Amino acid sequence: MNTVSATSESAVAAIAGKRVLIVYAHPEPESLNGALKDAMREHLLARGHQVEVSDLYAMQWKAGVDAADFPQRDPAAKLVVPVDSRRAFDGDALTADVRAEQDKLRWADALILQFPLWWFSMPAILKGWFDRVYAYGFAYGVGEHSDRHWGDRYGEGRLAGKRALVSVTAGGWQEHYSPRGINGPIEDMLFPINHGVLHYPGFDVLPSFVVYRTGKVDGPAFAAIRERLGERLDRLWTDAPIAYRRQNAGDYEVPALTLRPGLERPGTHGFALHVGDSAGAVFE
Ligand code: FAD
Repeated sequence: MNTVSATSESAVAAIAGKRVLIVYAHPEPESLNGALKDAMREHLLARGHQVEVSDLYAMQWKAGVDAADFPQRDPAAKLVVPVDSRRAFDGDALTADVRAEQDKLRWADALILQFPLWWFSMPAILKGWFDRVYAYGFAYGVGEHSDRHWGDRYGEGRLAGKRALVSVTAGGWQEHYSPRGINGPIEDMLFPINHGVLHYPGFDVLPSFVVYRTGKVDGPAFAAIRERLGERLDRLWTDAPIAYRRQNAGDYEVPALTLRPGLERPGTHGFALHVGDSAGAVFE
């Protein structure tokens, strides 16, 4: 577990003027998720940051990848998504909605995802945002691909140098997501998003912000959550990211990409193997 240092008022002021993209997925503006998204936006603006919000339901975001995503492809040819995606990305021929979201990602210093945990993952509309926006050549298929180098990914890539934060709400209790909890540990639950979707194209991923037991949230509870969230936002630029290992920094044998023997902390296995020992995750 890493310790996350408190940030002084002057340090917060010194890092004003950053650009934050919030990607928000909830169908109801009056929901808890909607209120958290609004609270985040207000807090960041008050700190002098610039904020863009992609409200996926309001935008009627198309979640499914299909041939319509590649308008210049030969309609008689078989659709092969990575191949068509690569051609469209290289030819600047992706659809306007996808290009607009890619531009927001290029613009942003930090990406925040705000969503409810639905079936232990993100809502389909948000998954579909990644499926479409993360084109070949943009988020994957970046850098040299050979037996010596499996691309610029897991800590490298087009989104390297940017920070990412998952802010998620869950109906279940915190204990249900504890190391011995019935649902499995929250670190494991969110690993495919934090490691697979965010660290893969280069993001430095911060420990997730989790609100549990949403059915019990009322006015006073919301005020406390809002304050806790504000503290996390003030530390967006100073908190230590989760210490995911970098693919191309020597920890993995090539080309198998298995962790070199002896690097693991005693007793670790599974997802935890891919977190180095200089810091771990604090999930709040
Ligand atoms: P809401 O229902 O909008 O609100 C929750 C509570 O917060 C309500 O009491 C509301 O009055 C209060 N509230 C909202 N806004 C405010 C405000 N501004 N001020 C004060 N109080 C406020 N849970 C799991 O743990 N694991 C799962 O895998 C899972 N899968 C699910 C799958 C589906 C399809 C669905 C529908 C739910 C699932 N859930 C699961 C539960 C889900 O995670 C929660 O329903 C969700 O996180 C609640 O978020 P919400 O924004 O919809 O809350």
